[in-house]
This record gives sequence, structure tokens and C-alpha cells, in this order.
Amino acid sequence: MSFQVARPTPVAHAAEPPRRLVLVGHPVEHSRSPIFQNAALASIGSALRYEALDVPPPLLDRALDALVRERAAGNVTVPHKATVWARCNRRTLLAEQVGAENCFWTEGSNLVGDNTDVAGAQESIQQLVGAPSRVKFGVRLLGAGGSAAAVLAALAPWPEAEVSIWARTPDRAFEMIPRLRPRATLVERPDDRLESVRLIINATPVGLDGTLPPVPIAALAAGTAVFDLTYAPNETRWVREARARGLRALDGLRMLVEQGAWSFARWFGRVPDRRILWAALGTQPPTPTRRLNW
Ligand code: NAP
Repeated sequence: MSFQVARPTPVAHAAEPPRRLVLVGHPVEHSRSPIFQNAALASIGSALRYEALDVPPPLLDRALDALVRERAAGNVTVPHKATVWARCNRRTLLAEQVGAENCFWTEGSNLVGDNTDVAGAQESIQQLVGAPSRVKFGVRLLGAGGSAAAVLAALAPWPEAEVSIWARTPDRAFEMIPRLRPRATLVERPDDRLESVRLIINATPVGLDGTLPPVPIAALAAGTAVFDLTYAPNETRWVREARARGLRALDGLRMLVEQGAWSFARWFGRVPDRRILWAALGTQPPTPTRRLNW
């Protein structure tokens, strides 16, 4: 039997529109989600506002109780993804497989969870390596948290890609590999065996503060595509360095907008016009600059 990860569809969505829309995380003030989600809400004539809710971990349970009572929906970000996943009474098949979620809504007194990071990551990967295919190429994934699991799920349409993972805590990688990419391997150091790597993905928070992920761009083979899940004004330093070397590169903004568009579809049963989301951010979707040479 071939191994398959369910792909997101626009079909599963909340039975009723939410009465409140929030981003639950800690911290949340840096998030750009409210900017484009509020533009999407305005575009469908909704009076709701998408609010960023800073919830310290000890207060999460009580906050979720209140959100269920209020028939709220929303997104979840660091550090709450796995906890909210565990709290859900029902999850989509995809959220079940990934073991983390970034999107929820309520049905009666039930909390329902989904993972639209997978769709977001998949769109960026496709931008970088082209349409799903059976081409064999090496992928190096840095990190083994919730978003790394979403990336593994997103790689399902590239079944021949040979994924190697570097994780600061290898046990977290061992836990997710059998579930999401049974043939993936682990490397001891982030820059081990880079010769066959043609796509490198940073799914750690390293880079958020202007530092660099633990694989220098100079160590990558020519033609390697670079995907950094973190994002920053004027792209992350790692992405800028990759572009300066002529490599195809994307930071996490595109994934953020894409997961947001699919989350909106879960809450309201319709996908918003991406042009409205990008206009609200005051920018255009970034495109990788060079053609691949592999
Ligand atoms: P997570 O579940 O906390 O996992 C973080 C991973 O990074 C873990 O493997 C962690 O290792 C590792 N890590 C943390 N600090 C590190 C360091 N200093 N050096 C090496 N490894 C380190 O977080 P997540 O949800 O996966 O998110 C990871 C990043 O992706 C965040 O920056 C988040 O903002 C970003 N993200 C972006 C989008 C988007 O739409 N663009 C979506 C989701 C996530 P340990 O297990 O050892 O702690």
C-alpha cells in the first residue's frame, strides 16, 4: 500500500459562521495575520474583527473554555499548537496525521481542529521545486516541531523526495517520521551530506531575530532551493543571502497568507481572493527569482 497524507480540501468547514475570530498564541503582537484576515472579513461584508489574543500557557485552558462558549474560531500559533490539538473533541484527518493544528472552530460545545499549515507549506514548496512529481531530489528539513510535521505532510505529493531531518531534539523527529514520512532519515549535524540536497527548509524559529539558521548558504550546492518558514520585513537574512547567491528562495510570508486563506475557507466556506490579502499587506506575493537547474 502506498503511503498517503490527506490533502486539504475546501469542503470541510464550520457548520455556522463564527461569532468571534482570534489568533491564540504567546506572544502574538508580531503576527501579520490580523492585517490580511481583517481585509478578507471586510471583503465579505462581515462585521467581525480578527483579534490577536496573547494567552500565556497557564491561562490557555480557561481561554479555550471561554472561546468555545463564545462560538469562536481562529488560528493557533506558538507555543499552543500541540496543546490545542490535544484539547479538540474532533480533528480533520489531516490534523490527526500531523499531530498539531493551526486552525479551529466550534460546533456546539465541541472544539474542531484542522491544519492549514500543510496547504501553506505545499504551495511554497511547489513555487520552489515545481509541480508535484516523482522526481528524486534531496530535501533537508531543519526542526522537528509542529511546523516541521506540517512540512513533512506537505511533501506527500513528491513521494520520491529523499528527506533528511536535523533536529536539536532527535526524539521529536523519531516520533513524527513513522507517521508522516517513513523513509525519512536523521542527520547528526545540520550541514551533514548536503551534496544531494536540492531543497532546504528551515522549520525552526532561528532567524526570527536576524540570526541565521545553522546551515550557511555558502555550504549549499548550486541550484539548491531555500525555504525559510520564518518571515521578516524585507525577507529573512537567510533568504536574502540565498537570493544574493542566485538561489531560488522564499521566506514564510507566502505560507502565512496561504494557510490564512485556507483557514478562512474553513470558517466561512469560501476561499478569499488572495489579491485582497496581499494588498492588505502592502506587497505582492514573492516569487523565486531563478529557474531550477536540476
Ligand atoms: P515548535 O513546535 O516549537 O518547533 C520548533 C522546532 O525548532 C523544534 O524542533 C525545536 O527544537 C527547534 N528549535 C527551536 N529553537 C532552536 C534553536 N535555537 N536551534 C535549533 N533548533 C531550534 O515550533 P513550530 O510551530 O514548528 O514553528 C517553528 C517556526 O516556524 C516558528 O518560527 C514559526 O513562527 C514558523 N512558522 C511559520 C509559519 C508560516 O506560515 N510562515 C507557520 C508555522 C510556523 P527543540 O525540540 O529542541 O526545542
